[in-house]
Amino acid sequence: MEYRTNNTSFDLYDKVRGVIFGQAIGDALGLGTEFMSYNEVLKYYPQKLTSYNQILQDRHRIRWKAGEWTDDTDMMLCIADAMIKDKDICLNHVAQNFKQWFRGIPMGIGQYTNNVLAISDYTKDPIRAASLVWKLSGEKSAANGGLMRTSVIGLWKKDVSLYAENICKLTHADPRCVGSCVILSELVHSFVWYDKELDFETIIKIGNKYDERIAPYLIAAMEAEQIQDLNLDDESAMGYTLKTLSAAVWCLYHVESFLEGLLAVVNAGGDADTNAAVACSLLGAKYGYKSIPPYYIENLLDKNLLMNVSKKIYEIISA
Ligand SMILES: [Mg+2]
Repeated sequence: MEYRTNNTSFDLYDKVRGVIFGQAIGDALGLGTEFMSYNEVLKYYPQKLTSYNQILQDRHRIRWKAGEWTDDTDMMLCIADAMIKDKDICLNHVAQNFKQWFRGIPMGIGQYTNNVLAISDYTKDPIRAASLVWKLSGEKSAANGGLMRTSVIGLWKKDVSLYAENICKLTHADPRCVGSCVILSELVHSFVWYDKELDFETIIKIGNKYDERIAPYLIAAMEAEQIQDLNLDDESAMGYTLKTLSAAVWCLYHVESFLEGLLAVVNAGGDADTNAAVACSLLGAKYGYKSIPPYYIENLLDKNLLMNVSKKIYEIISA
């Protein structure tokens, strides 16, 4: 299959910006309901959370300004920065960026990611370090820290599965994490480069390649009429990679616009900044930047940085 870099029937740059801005917008608005149950969301936002300046100023959230994204987009930008500087995807450089970001004592970093990046010689052999932490978890931990940053890999021209796999493994070794990253990155890739949605059988097939526990979450996402049916706010599974993946996949089959997906995921509670960052990167790939209501773009705190990153990545991938 040929890549459509010229004379495309759709706008590649629009798709690139859709992914990057989509991710940051989901992250920044999702912060408003992060760690809340669905009932708490209804209590604090009886009219629904729709704008950054509505975000509850409790002890957790007051640390961020309105329109500011969190660790999810920070880590996505660590990958983007390495891509731009290398004009390639170099795992060691990505790992170095993760470590450098970690040294800045980032707000909102996930516990699991923290445990991996805290290893003093992490950058010497990051995949081994990550595997060690996973083994210490009894091979049980499958947090969404890999998935939350993977969207940008879907913009790359080729070998997306391979890069998504390896960049996930820089911190998250569990096959459910790796499979989630590959599914999301390939979905993004197909929208961005072919303006085409991967069919459900293909997604299931990718999942089964990595772990048989993935498919039930994909099927649940396809079948759930309401996003609440996915129980994203289940405390025992908050931050689970397959919960986050199911929120994004649910949007593919149940919403008809970027805005509809953003508001559905954000107002479902749970690990909402991550769920919405992932879902909205995918919706940005599907519907494009121009489909995003301008309010959400204009009021992102660091929108100029995102525009710069989008431009540079577009230049590299379209060259
Ligand atoms: Mg976060």
